[in-house]
Order: sequence, then C-alpha cells, then structure tokens
Amino acid sequence: MDEDAFTCAVCSNPYTSCPYDLRLREPRVLRCGHTFCAHCIRELQRRAENGRIECPNRCEETTPVDPGESGVKNYTLLKAVADKEQDDQHRVTVLRKCASGACSLSLLEVAMVVEMGHLDQEIDAEAGLSSMRRQLHTLMTSLIAGSMLTRLQGLLICRWIPTHRPLRLLSRVTRDGPSHADLLRCVGNAKPLVFVVKRDIYMFGVFASAAIRPPDNPAAVNEYGCAMWEFSLAGHFDTPTLMDDIDPEFGRLEVAGGQNAPMLRVDGLTFGVDGQDVSSCNHSCGRIVGYDMPDGYRGKADGDNNALLAGSDQLESPHGEFFTADDLEVLTVG
Ligand SMILES: [Zn+2]
Ligand SMILES: [Zn+2]
Repeated sequence: MDEDAFTCAVCSNPYTSCPYDLRLREPRVLRCGHTFCAHCIRELQRRAENGRIECPNRCEETTPVDPGESGVKNYTLLKAVADKEQDDQHRVTVLRKCASGACSLSLLEVAMVVEMGHLDQEIDAEAGLSSMRRQLHTLMTSLIAGSMLTRLQGLLICRWIPTHRPLRLLSRVTRDGPSHADLLRCVGNAKPLVFVVKRDIYMFGVFASAAIRPPDNPAAVNEYGCAMWEFSLAGHFDTPTLMDDIDPEFGRLEVAGGQNAPMLRVDGLTFGVDGQDVSSCNHSCGRIVGYDMPDGYRGKADGDNNALLAGSDQLESPHGEFFTADDLEVLTVG
C-alpha cells in the first residue's frame, strides 16, 4: 500500500489503529467512500450545515451527521494500519538491539537493518553472519555527515517521526555559531525539524512538524501550534526511547524576535534562556517518574519526582534557570 494511504489527507497525520487514542486518528469513512481520521471527521461534523457532512474532496454525496459516531470505521485500512504499526514496532526493536551491539542480530534482522539504512552497497553479504554483524555495527555507529548523531540514531528518529527519508543537518552550534541569528540563518524555513541537545552523557531532543517563523517585530514573540514528539537518545534510559507524544493541538512553538529571551521554545525545551547563546537551555517535560514518564527512566528527577532531562544542576538567569548544552543541532528530513 502507498505511504500516503496511511496518512489523513486533511491533517497530514498518520492514522493509528487504537480506538482509545486521545488524538482520534482512527481511519473513518464517509458515505462517498472517502476516508479521513476520526479527529478531522469530528471537525467536519461540528461545521456541518443542515445536518449533512460535506466531504473535503467536494463529493456530491454528503453524509448525515450522527452525533454519537465520527463516521464509520474503515476496517480494511484499520487492519493495514495495525499491521504497519506492528511492523514498525518490530523494526524499532531490531534497531534498539542493533544499538546495544549488533552481535545478537539474526540473518533476517541484519537484512532488515541493511534495508532500512540503505546499506546494501556497503555490507559484504558473502562474508558470513558474524562478519556482517561487525560490519553493520561499524556502519551504524558512524556519523551522519556533519552531525553528532550516529546513523543508527538517525534511523530511529526517522521511525519515530515517521518518515522514510534520511535526516540532514541544518545547524550545529559548535560549527555555525551560538547566536539566535546563526540558528535562524541556518535553519531558514525548513520543516519538519528535529532539535537535538547533548550534555555530558545525555542526549535528547524534540521533533516539531512546523518551521521556525520569527515575528516581524523584533520585540515580539510568535507563538503557534504543531505536532511534537520528545525522545531520549542516551543517558536517560538503557536504549533510545520515544517519550509520550504530544497532541498536535497542544504542541507549542514560540519564536522570539531578535530582542527577546528566551529565544526559542519548542514545547518543554527552551533555547537561549540567557538571551545570548542558544545553547543555554532549559527542559521541563512535566513528566513524573513512575507515572507518565516511560518505564526504565534512570535520569535525574527533582524533589517532586519530575524528570529532569540532561541532569539537574542549573544556573540562574533573569529569564529562568538554564544549563549550557555541549552541543545543539537542528536537522530536517530529505
Ligand atoms: Zn485528519
Ligand atoms: Zn468524498
């Protein structure tokens, strides 16, 4: 099935198979035969006139508003979505296995990682399983061009986004400079964006579906919503971990004009807290260890058990507490 078939054409979000998913991304079908996610169909119901839902594709046949239901489930697509989710889950499991040393991968799993990483030119398939595992591990721990991320970390982020195009580095503080202007110049209007922060043993970040849009007025702050996911790559869990995703309606981006601090806020992750250097960061994920933080968290937490990514010791500034990242990158896909 075509990749587009798994995405709602109205909101561009991937469908999910879980009926209890708060984001309501189950595929539902209208009378005309067109499928959209339950969330978008609910919106169409809300805006319906004369008790009829109009199809976004401007079909002649309308659908009666049924207050109890957001359309009828598309069972065929639902089954395909569930199969794809299971397959993606399996691929993530294999990548995580690869991250902790490729030595336990089976021949089938080696083939799967080779396919995901487009490594068929680089792996000697005649060399025997243990040699292939070694080659694979060396390749997967090599870096994305210009980035501090390994190709394995990049592949994991791409499974989480999800996209089938590889990551590409846009901006890196230690290479391109620490100012807000440096970051804006390098990132431009690219989207989606992946922000990655490194400090000591910790590496984590956030994915945002929208571009950085600075306000016209340098004294203002531009604030808007987009889809966001937070993840940890190292230091907080035994293996790279996608933390709970944020509902697209609640993910916030705040971009300050040149005269404001903090310079940039991507949901819980804030950059440029001291007003000088974008790598003066703060992170408050608002997740409680043992409650809504994923299991296996072994990073720091404050007195109320709120998880503190990147460790806990922070400096004071007029705009709040911050730590200085060793490096900060912004990447995009494709
Ligand atoms: Zn939708
Ligand atoms: Zn239609």
